[in-house]
Amino acid sequence: MKVYILDNGYLLMDKNILLNNAVLANADEPDRRCELIHCPIMMVLIKHENGCILYDLGCHPKAGEKGYWPDRVWKSERYYHEPEQELEAQLALCGVTPKDIDTVVLSHLHEDHTGNAHLFAHAELYAPRQEFIDALLSVHTNPDTGYVKSEVLAPFKEFHLVEGDMPLYPGIELIDLPGHTNGLLGMVLHTEKDGVLIFPQDGVFCEESYGPPARLPGGFEDSAACLRSIEKVRALQQKFDAKVFFGHDPKNFPAYRHAPAYYE
Ligand SMILES: [Zn+2]
Repeated sequence: MKVYILDNGYLLMDKNILLNNAVLANADEPDRRCELIHCPIMMVLIKHENGCILYDLGCHPKAGEKGYWPDRVWKSERYYHEPEQELEAQLALCGVTPKDIDTVVLSHLHEDHTGNAHLFAHAELYAPRQEFIDALLSVHTNPDTGYVKSEVLAPFKEFHLVEGDMPLYPGIELIDLPGHTNGLLGMVLHTEKDGVLIFPQDGVFCEESYGPPARLPGGFEDSAACLRSIEKVRALQQKFDAKVFFGHDPKNFPAYRHAPAYYE
């Protein structure tokens, strides 16, 4: 198995909203609500004996332009990228085109994880069941949410809606990490040379919330579940002596091995 980390650009965000839950905690302290950080957008390509798997679909190339994302999202987080960071260019670094992807796994369906869904009608999709339901309900009832209707409704060859933990293929496990959203799939990869790699995506945004001790980040549906999910990642990390790749971590992201380099 070869594991490639794909760089899809970054979101310019308020650190206090992402990591300190500032909207709730510091509503009367606006000066604490503005410390801008560059949050990397990461996708993961896995070349496996069962085919090519793509974990998360980043942002749509037009996501930084006004009018593509729901207005509330566009105002609070702005997407920037270079042409070479678009998904197809990143896949090309690994000798792969979208047509070569057999399986897509979505951690959840927020706008910075579904952006290139239009390219994969030929692929099978694995997504968390509760999150899929929440996203469908949201795009049909509220136009101004963290979901993009055309991306949530994008066609796939087959839909596999996952509840709980699930082995995907030999050496690949999907793990349930609810909290940020009510369903969220992390991924655990057992590689030959590089050991166990854990990708929690938005289950753990940054090392700062991971700790120990874990700190409640911002942007969650269920605060208690959020903290339980962080501890679940920690227990797996300790069990397997694994490396954790945080979902949107500006400090750690540059040190990850980026495509065309890979873990194996
Ligand atoms: Zn995200």
